[in-house]
This record gives sequence, structure tokens and C-alpha cells, in this order.
Amino acid sequence: MTVKSYFLPRSLPEALRLLQLHGPELLVMAGGTVAMPLINEGISLPEAVMGLRLAGLDRLDRTDGTLRIGATATLTQMLDQDAVPMLREAARNTASWSIRNMGTVGGNLFTPPPGGDVAVALLALDASVTLAGARGERVLPLGDFFTGFMTNELAADELLVEIQVPIRSEPTAYMKFGRKHANTPAVVTVAVRIEWHEDRVADARIALGAVGPYPIRARQAERLLVGTGLDADAIAAAAVAATQGCEPFTDGIATDWYRRKMVSLFVGRALEQLAPGAGAEGR
Ligand SMILES: Cc1cc2nc3c(=O)[nH]c(=O)nc-3n(C[C@H](O)[C@H](O)[C@H](O)COP(=O)(O)OP(=O)(O)OC[C@H]3O[C@@H](n4cnc5c(N)ncnc54)[C@H](O)[C@@H]3O)c2cc1C
Repeated sequence: MTVKSYFLPRSLPEALRLLQLHGPELLVMAGGTVAMPLINEGISLPEAVMGLRLAGLDRLDRTDGTLRIGATATLTQMLDQDAVPMLREAARNTASWSIRNMGTVGGNLFTPPPGGDVAVALLALDASVTLAGARGERVLPLGDFFTGFMTNELAADELLVEIQVPIRSEPTAYMKFGRKHANTPAVVTVAVRIEWHEDRVADARIALGAVGPYPIRARQAERLLVGTGLDADAIAAAAVAATQGCEPFTDGIATDWYRRKMVSLFVGRALEQLAPGAGAEGR
């Protein structure tokens, strides 16, 4: 164990001051479910750690059609989010009770694939993130936050403070496929949201996890769906197109070949849930 100092700021300004004082050497920790095992195994060797759990960043608030999620709100807190059913579903499919009780929504955005199950849902929901630093706050669409494998737009002197999710009424579908039914890493995670205009698809979001360096959108498949009635042919074409832009990888859970196959299968299944007559009720 290398940690010599552990800080527990009681507010965001105090946390930002500590970050400025110690610079990038200060390891930021929210729930610690990713960071702590790395320290215990000697992979990460920080001398100073800052825990965020008392910094007042765990508030949930619903205003003006937006659900505002404090970055350190836990995954368990998402389980009764009736306003955004997909978030509830994503949290339910993430890890175990004990990990959900500690793990945070903000921390999920920093979790490398095949993790990031809640991040995939947030991407399909058009969420934004607020980053705060000494120079003030800035808001980014979540899609612009990720830049590569374990890299993102967060500057060294910034913290992720809030995630904003538009509350919409369209039905959504969320599917996580793993080797077990529960508490399992993803082979692929699929989150889909369809906006309808009368009986035609007006807009579509298809977000994918565990098939790239970070959660990605299947943009070509989204484009193919617009203007269709989400019939069987449109679903089949989108399911095939969804693999474009994926960069599946091989790990102990699945090969890249298998992950690619599962993208098509599960995008197809998720779209079928949302097709007219399928009885989707805003999951
Ligand atoms: C046994 C086990 C099973 C798991 N299963 C899953 C799973 O099924 N699906 C899944 O998606 N994940 C899974 N995870 C990963 C993890 O639990 C979750 O992704 C969780 O949401 C991470 O949040 P955290 O608060 O614990 O992150 P932490 O470990 O606290 O943080 C990770 C890193 O993120 C950064 N960070 C976190 N919050 C902030 C912030 N507010 N501002 C700036 N930087 C920040 C820091 O650099 C930090 O070091 C699992 C983990 C374990 C140990």
C-alpha cells in the first residue's frame, strides 16, 4: 500500500482546491469499486487519494423535464428512477447489490469496457455531463466526453459533478448479454430509443457497450431506421449495419468475432421489442 494521505472534502469547492493543490498525483475516488482493487493489487500506486463521498455530489433532482444526477449518486439510487426506466434497467443489470451500493453513476463513465453498462444507457438517452474546475463549469454531450480507451475530455484539474438526462416518454429497450443471467460482465450491451412521428421513426439512438474502447453509437443503423415503420426488413438492415464502427475485442468473456455476431443479434432483439405491436411500455 502506497497511500500516504487520504482526503475527504466536505464540498465541491474544497475538492477542487485539493485537486489544484496536489495536481494529477491525487487519485480521485468515488465509490472505489474500480479504483480500490487496482490499488490493492499494486497496479495503481497513488500517494494521495481524495474520496468524493462527502463532497455533496450525490443529489438527484428532477426539474424542467431533466433528471439531474449527482456524479456520486450510487447505482442503487438508480433502481427506483421511475422517470427514466432505461436507467433503472441498466443499474439492475450492473454488478451485484454490494457493488451497486458503492459504485457511482459518475464512476461508471470512467469504467473501461466491458464495464460501463449505465454509461451505454446514458448515451442512448442523450445525456450531458457537467465538468467543474478552477476556471468554472462546462457542459458536454456525453457522446463528446469519451475520447479513447480510458481517456476522456476531463482535464486534470476538473471533476465530473453532474449528469443530466432528458426525461422523455418514448419507449426504450435495454439489453445486456453476458455469460450468466446476473452479475456478469457484458459480451455486448445494447440501449435503444426510438422517437416516432405518427407511424414512422423520426429519430433513433442505438448505443453499444463492450464492443469498442468506450460506449459508442451505431450511427449507420440509426440512420437506416429513420422514416421506416420499424418493420422486419428495417430491423434486419439496422441489425446488420450496427456492427459498422464497432471495434470488438477478445477477452476472457468472448472473442471479437463472437461479440460482433452478438451486436447484430441483440440490436435486432432490442428493436423488435420496440416495433409496433410488440407492447413496449417504456422500459
Ligand atoms: C465485482 C465487480 C463487478 C462489476 N460489474 C460491473 C458491471 O456489471 N457493469 C459495469 O458497468 N461495471 C461493473 N463494475 C465496475 C464498477 O463497479 C462500476 O462501473 C461503478 O459504476 C464504478 O463507479 P465507482 O464510483 O466505484 O468508481 P471509482 O472506482 O470510485 O472510480 C473509478 C475512477 O473514475 C474516476 N472518477 C470517478 N468519479 C469521478 C468524478 N466524479 N470526477 C472525476 N473522476 C472520477 C477516477 O479517476 C477513479 O479513479 C464492477 C466492479 C466490480 C468490482
